[in-house]
Amino acid sequence: RTTGDLVLSTADITKKFGGLVALADVSVRVAPASIVGLVGPNGAGKSTLFNVMSGYLRPTSGSVFIDGVEQTRRSGPQRRATMGVARTFQHPELFSDLTIREHLVLAKRVRSAPRRLWTDLLKVSGLRMSTATRDDTVDALLEDLSLTDDAERLAVGLPLGVARRVEVGRALITDPRVVLLDEPSSGLDESETRDLAQVLRDARIRHSVALVLVEHDVDLVLGLSDEVYVLDFGKLIAHGTPEEIRRDPAVRAAYLGD
Ligand code: ADP
Ligand code: MG
Repeated sequence: RTTGDLVLSTADITKKFGGLVALADVSVRVAPASIVGLVGPNGAGKSTLFNVMSGYLRPTSGSVFIDGVEQTRRSGPQRRATMGVARTFQHPELFSDLTIREHLVLAKRVRSAPRRLWTDLLKVSGLRMSTATRDDTVDALLEDLSLTDDAERLAVGLPLGVARRVEVGRALITDPRVVLLDEPSSGLDESETRDLAQVLRDARIRHSVALVLVEHDVDLVLGLSDEVYVLDFGKLIAHGTPEEIRRDPAVRAAYLGD
């Protein structure tokens, strides 16, 4: 595959914070509609790589490509979002005075008119968004995420498993080509994690979207991903299919506790 066939890729990304090398020559490749896992211990550089890919951080050196076009210094997060790179955050930040449905409606509007973000937010907090304007894509997505029954609930005090699905929904409603998910299962119990895994599997198929999954839950990643990258102290120590990763002696030594 050439870079042009990839929805997202990095070449030799190095990121230093002062004297700390958070990422050292990291190259990853994300094919369309694939699920790519990124695992590694705390502090390995996973979130930093996400920030570099999504445009929140400029790397010290190396390149980021979206659909084969170099974006490293050309675009920030907002622009990359309009190019189809969506992300979720480790700690979902939902608006306590909006319903689940309103979160999706708002996210959809923001994608199509980024500059109106704040206008929209003001409108929402002032008047409330009209939920009478039914939107088929929003309804379908609520259904995909098993959120239909909770759609009119306010986002305040939602169980974390539900909040995480809203986060995923906010990313998917923008019709992205790739979603970067930072620790989507953290804090979830076993059954919430299972539900989330199913939502992600379905999302990849129904929305033909690529997913990049940062996780400390290695079993979840190995179970979901087509390919897995393993980071340790900012360096890639392994890359392969889940089976290859399970067998990899370096990974077992460094990470799987052998
Ligand atoms: P992970 O997500 O794999 O746990 P991070 O990417 O958050 O790791 O962090 C990688 C390393 O970079 C850590 O040592 C962390 O302390 C450091 N780091 C991350 N962000 C910053 C920052 N903004 N300033 C300084 N150091 C940072
Ligand atoms: Mg992190």
